[in-house]
Amino acid sequence: MLYNLHTHTYRCNHAKGEDREYVEAAIGAGLEVLGFSDHSPQFFKPHGYYSHFRMRPGQFEDYVTSIRALQREYRDDIRILLGLETEYYPECFDRLHEFIAPFEIDYMILGQHFVGNEYDEELYLDNGKYGERYLRQYTKQVSEALRTGEFTCFAHPDIAYFGGSRDVYEGEMSKLCAVAKQLDVPLEFNMLGYQNGRSYPDPAFWRVAARTGNKTVLGFDAHSPKALSNTDVYNECHGKLARLGITPAAWDTFAVAKP
Ligand SMILES: [Zn+2]
Ligand SMILES: [Zn+2]
Repeated sequence: MLYNLHTHTYRCNHAKGEDREYVEAAIGAGLEVLGFSDHSPQFFKPHGYYSHFRMRPGQFEDYVTSIRALQREYRDDIRILLGLETEYYPECFDRLHEFIAPFEIDYMILGQHFVGNEYDEELYLDNGKYGERYLRQYTKQVSEALRTGEFTCFAHPDIAYFGGSRDVYEGEMSKLCAVAKQLDVPLEFNMLGYQNGRSYPDPAFWRVAARTGNKTVLGFDAHSPKALSNTDVYNECHGKLARLGITPAAWDTFAVAKP
């Protein structure tokens, strides 16, 4: 069964298309489950700080209303889920949780783009300019995030590009994979990164994941409706994983799959 849990909307300011167009594209591509997981609002401590690549708190209600309406409208054609991709920023997470709890969304995925709280460590994780301290901090922070038990899957776990010692990299990623395995949180092989030739998916990371026996999921990380119909990239990524001995997890192994 084809499913995708990693889908954005125009509200994050760097994805395009109407919500309905994503649904139509998913149905056209034969997906049976489409999870929306747009970049969640954040509740930053410093007054006046906000980052442009995510929705604002004031847009959240509209997001919920729109996706829930589509869920009802298309219920005979596709299963739609309402989720969020969010950062784990220790100083901001409780407030986020409090804000979204009343909306009873279906799931959250972890998508960590910065270490610290973003405003204190303004270094995008895949830029490759940071050293060992950041890599260790990344591992520590996302492990803490996974331990909250809030996340259905972990998007681009290998976003932290590290140009230094391979031993250090593999050591840290082994720790991370062990935590995800212990908590049974699937790791996402990010097809957008693959397609755009980004530093992730990182083959070294996926060798570690294969060794650790992590549960894995393929994610389109769709920022446009047409991304959902890219079967070529899906087949290529599926093949890459197969060569490592990894089979993406079946949909019904997810807690969120239960009615
Ligand atoms: Zn995005
Ligand atoms: Zn994403």
